[in-house]
Amino acid sequence: MSSEASVHGIHHVTAIAGHPQENLTFYAGVLGMRLVKRSVNQDDPGTYHLFYADAAGTPGTDVTFFPWTRMAPSRRGAGMVGEIALAIPAGSLDWWRRRLGEHDVLRMEEEERFGERVLPFHDPHGLALALVEIEEEREFAAWEASAVPPEHQIRGVHAVRIQERVLAPSAALLEEVLGFRRIESEGAWQRWSAGGGSGAFADLQEAPEAPFGRWGTGAVHHVAWRVRDDAEQLAVRAAVEATGLQPTPVIDRFWFRSVYFKEPGGTLFELATDGPGFARDEDPAKLGEALVLPPWLERSRSAIEAALPPLEMPAIVP
Ligand code: ZN
Repeated sequence: MSSEASVHGIHHVTAIAGHPQENLTFYAGVLGMRLVKRSVNQDDPGTYHLFYADAAGTPGTDVTFFPWTRMAPSRRGAGMVGEIALAIPAGSLDWWRRRLGEHDVLRMEEEERFGERVLPFHDPHGLALALVEIEEEREFAAWEASAVPPEHQIRGVHAVRIQERVLAPSAALLEEVLGFRRIESEGAWQRWSAGGGSGAFADLQEAPEAPFGRWGTGAVHHVAWRVRDDAEQLAVRAAVEATGLQPTPVIDRFWFRSVYFKEPGGTLFELATDGPGFARDEDPAKLGEALVLPPWLERSRSAIEAALPPLEMPAIVP
């Protein structure tokens, strides 16, 4: 690698959901994550953008959704993130299997991957998720008001899985430009790390016959990788551009700054800064309670609010 700049793990993953109330009931009510930001899609302000994370919105704990109720179902395939793995503390998988079963999650078949206990399942809109037991302690703030006791709460995003028609160009980008190291392989899956354990993994598989995936309800829209600050973001951006890929300019997402590009296999990647963070415009004790708009959308607040369906926080379901 010619430069010191690199990414440092997963910042957030963004997916496409169906009805926002069903999304909120599942992620906050069943999975017990905290709704840390209730905003709108900045490019489509008639649509919510809902952010779920640990209590503090720690980078790397965040899964976000655009609930686009009129979209067709997605098609799983190559060139997109096919599954989001979420970290849970070692010893809590059996507790989670019971909880998910009580909330009508079906077809849970425990697996072992890279020596880890994994429970794959789907959210109500068909998004592929997995819970993975981890031994290590992660930076994490427990959510006191969660229906899930702190000892079982989700610790953050653990890994993303991506199928590629041709692996080599994507692998080269990970290793030579973004600073990943290939650390393990198991069957057809290979694991890269962006310099850490849980939260820094990208699992890729070459699948030459796979159809290309198609965005729709239940698909991952993009995965964002952490960069420490603006300088590192610009350095990684320049390195991406030098390979012939076409990163966007830096876009101010208010809670962080973003650059987007498609990796060679077609998956949409983002580079997101760790700061300023979700407490920039809300009292940390009240994150997610009110609709928050970035300053440039504030003057359209009444029209935006009128277009959005009402949302009710789910009751705490034990
Ligand atoms: Zn994003």
